[in-house]
Amino acid sequence: MISSKPILVTGASGFIALHVIAQLLEKGYKVRGTVRSQKKEAEVRETISRLVQKNYQLEIVSTDIEQDAGWKEALHDVEYVLHVASPFPLAEPKHEDELIKPAVEGTLRVLKFAHDANVKRVVQVSSNAAVSAGYAGDNRTFTEADWSKVENNIGAYSKSKTLAERAAWKFINSAENKNKLEMVAINPPFVLGPVSNKNYNTSSEVVRTYMLGQVPGTAKIKIGCVDVRDVASAIISAMEIKEASGNRFLVSAGELWMKEIADILHAQFSKRGYKIPTMPLPSFVVRFVAIFDPKVRAIVNTLDWDFQLSSEKAKQILKWNPRSAKESVLAMAESLIEQGIL
Ligand code: NDP
Repeated sequence: MISSKPILVTGASGFIALHVIAQLLEKGYKVRGTVRSQKKEAEVRETISRLVQKNYQLEIVSTDIEQDAGWKEALHDVEYVLHVASPFPLAEPKHEDELIKPAVEGTLRVLKFAHDANVKRVVQVSSNAAVSAGYAGDNRTFTEADWSKVENNIGAYSKSKTLAERAAWKFINSAENKNKLEMVAINPPFVLGPVSNKNYNTSSEVVRTYMLGQVPGTAKIKIGCVDVRDVASAIISAMEIKEASGNRFLVSAGELWMKEIADILHAQFSKRGYKIPTMPLPSFVVRFVAIFDPKVRAIVNTLDWDFQLSSEKAKQILKWNPRSAKESVLAMAESLIEQGIL
C-alpha cells in the first residue's frame, strides 16, 4: 500500500469506477468516492458491499466535475486521485459541447484542485478514443505515441476524451504546476467484463444488442477490447508504480471483429435460447443503411479498418497481464443476465 490516506475516486457510480473502488478496498486502501447526486450513495454502497468480502472504509461525497463546490473538502487529506468521471452517453449529443465541456473543464478542475491540495499524483482515465480515432483505414499498430485526429469528424465522445487528455498534459507540463503534481493516463479501448449492478451503461450496448438479436448480422468492424477488472488493476498500478509517472498507457487485451464477438456469444448462449445473429453483412450494405440511420452512420467510417493496439508499455512498466478478450465478452453477457438486464 502506498497511502494510508483515502484514495479519491471520481464518478464512483460508474461501471469502471465501481471495480476500481472494489479492488482498492480489497487491497486495504481507504476510499473516498465522489458522486454527483447524493441519491447515488446508497446504490454505490449496496454494490460495493456485494463486491468486497472484507471490512473496508468507504466514504462517499457529493461533488460535480462541472462545479467548484465540494472539491476542496473532497480532496482533504488525499495523496492520490483516480479521475474516472466523464460523460459517456450512448447517443451523439445535440451539440458536441455537452460532452466536451464537462470532460475538458471537469478534468482541469480536478487537476487544479488536486494541485492546490498538494496531491502527489492523479491517474486520468482517458481512452483509446484519444489515441486512434480519425485514422480509419490506416491498417497498422497504434501506440501511446499516437493522438486521435480531432479534425477528422471523430464524434463528440472521442473529441471530448482527446481534448480532455491533451488539456490535462498541458496543465501538468506548464509552469502553473508549481507543486509538481504527477499524472498518468490510462487509455482503454472498449471495456467489457462483468457489470456490477442493474445500471445500464454504454459499454454494454454491443453485447446486449447481439444477445437480444436486435441487428440482422455483423458489420465488418473491429474493436479493441479489455476487461473492466483489468482496466481497474491498470488504474491502480498507475497510481502505485513510481515509474509510471508522466506516461500514458494503452491497455488492450486484443482486438475482435464484430463477427468474432457474435460467434463467441453464439457458441455459449444459443443453447440457452439466445438468438445471436452471426451472419456477416457486406460493407456496401452497411454503407447504404447508414444513409438513413444515424446510429449506423456513426460507425460507418470504421468499416473494414484492420488495426492493432499495442499494450507493450503497460505490460513492461505496469506489469499488466490482462485476461483474454473472449473471457471478457462472456463475462459481460453472463453478468447482464444475472443483473436482469437481459
Ligand atoms: P459510466 O457511464 O458507467 O460512468 C461514468 C461516470 O462519470 C459516472 O459515475 C457518471 O456519474 C460520471 N459523470 C458523467 N458525467 C459527469 C459529470 N458531468 N459530473 C460528474 N460525474 C459525471 O462509464 P464508464 O465507467 O464506462 O466510464 C468511466 C470512464 O472511463 C470515462 O471517463 C470514460 O470515458 C472512460 N472510458 C470508458 C470506456 C468504456 O468502454 N466503458 C473506454 C475507454 C474509456 P452518474 O452516475 O451520476 O451519471
